[in-house]
Amino acid sequence: MDENSMNEIEQLTQERPELAALARESLDAIEAAGTPAELEETRVRLLGKKGSIAAVFKGLGSLPPEEKRTLGQIGNALRTLAESELTARAARLKDAETKERLLREATDVTLPGRRLPQGHDHLLARVIDDVTDIFVSLGYKVVAGPEVELDFYNFEALNTPPHHPARSLQDTLYVRRSDPVSDDPKDILLRTHTSPVQVRVMESERPPLYVISPGKAYRKDEIDATHSPVFHQVEGFAVSEDITMGDLKGTLEVFARKLFGEERAVRFRPHFFPFTEPSAEVDVSCFVCAGGGCSLCKGVGWLEIMGCGMIDPAVFSHVGYDPEKYTGFAFGGGVERIAMLKYGVDDMRVFFENDMRFLRQF
Ligand SMILES: [Zn+2]
Repeated sequence: MDENSMNEIEQLTQERPELAALARESLDAIEAAGTPAELEETRVRLLGKKGSIAAVFKGLGSLPPEEKRTLGQIGNALRTLAESELTARAARLKDAETKERLLREATDVTLPGRRLPQGHDHLLARVIDDVTDIFVSLGYKVVAGPEVELDFYNFEALNTPPHHPARSLQDTLYVRRSDPVSDDPKDILLRTHTSPVQVRVMESERPPLYVISPGKAYRKDEIDATHSPVFHQVEGFAVSEDITMGDLKGTLEVFARKLFGEERAVRFRPHFFPFTEPSAEVDVSCFVCAGGGCSLCKGVGWLEIMGCGMIDPAVFSHVGYDPEKYTGFAFGGGVERIAMLKYGVDDMRVFFENDMRFLRQF
């Protein structure tokens, strides 16, 4: 409050108590204004042409000079006081409004944020990662190869020459074929397995080699619960001096235990593949019944997980390795099959249908 003006008014109005009252009422009215609009109304009521302070100056002209001077002084002091109080009140109202607005617009950093839905890898991608990680931990490197492949890498160099019976087992999807019935190593096809990567790596590098190669493969299959024209394989191979069948078995045992559980055992059943000799199918002891027999293993206690064998010397001769010096093993399995066994999926079509109810389960 303007103390000087108030003191002056108190001095001057000792003889005019109604004007002292007007001063106090004016201050009260200004203080009571709660908004800028109310304050403006108060200003007009006090200082406007018909306002209560303006009224003090009315009729001054007809008064005696002494009284006229005193009343003029009181009127001026009242006006000065009212003006400074109006200005101060306006500033306080503006401050309050700013504070209120800041409070209203403030961000509460302690409120929990809105969570965005978080996706995750597809089950097949996870199985590929899991399998790959196991072999990387054993010192293998990951190599990818083309999905559109030459007949040479897919068949010929893997000891599957033209008209070899193994070709009829793999209904091949051709991109370009020079002759509809004769096989030509320059034919272009969608690879029927990931094994061509073996040939490509051996062609460009020298042993020792420890390679794992996951990827897509294609066959002319009808879609059903266990077949799809596109599927995934994981291929692995090792080439060095003195690699034996025992190394292969030991490697696949480590793999099976890391993927399916520490108690797993592995067994080999003799089989045939053109590019390995001897060849075997690999079974892992059933992780549901531990070998006792259940519906997953169809009562036999074992689950087939992949094929494998010692790399045929004929394959080495295609890539210029000395078969007398080097030996090696190769193995490969279907990613969908491994995922189905491990996660109890009984129809492989769900991997490709993108039904969120399935995808969210894993
Ligand atoms: Zn079982």
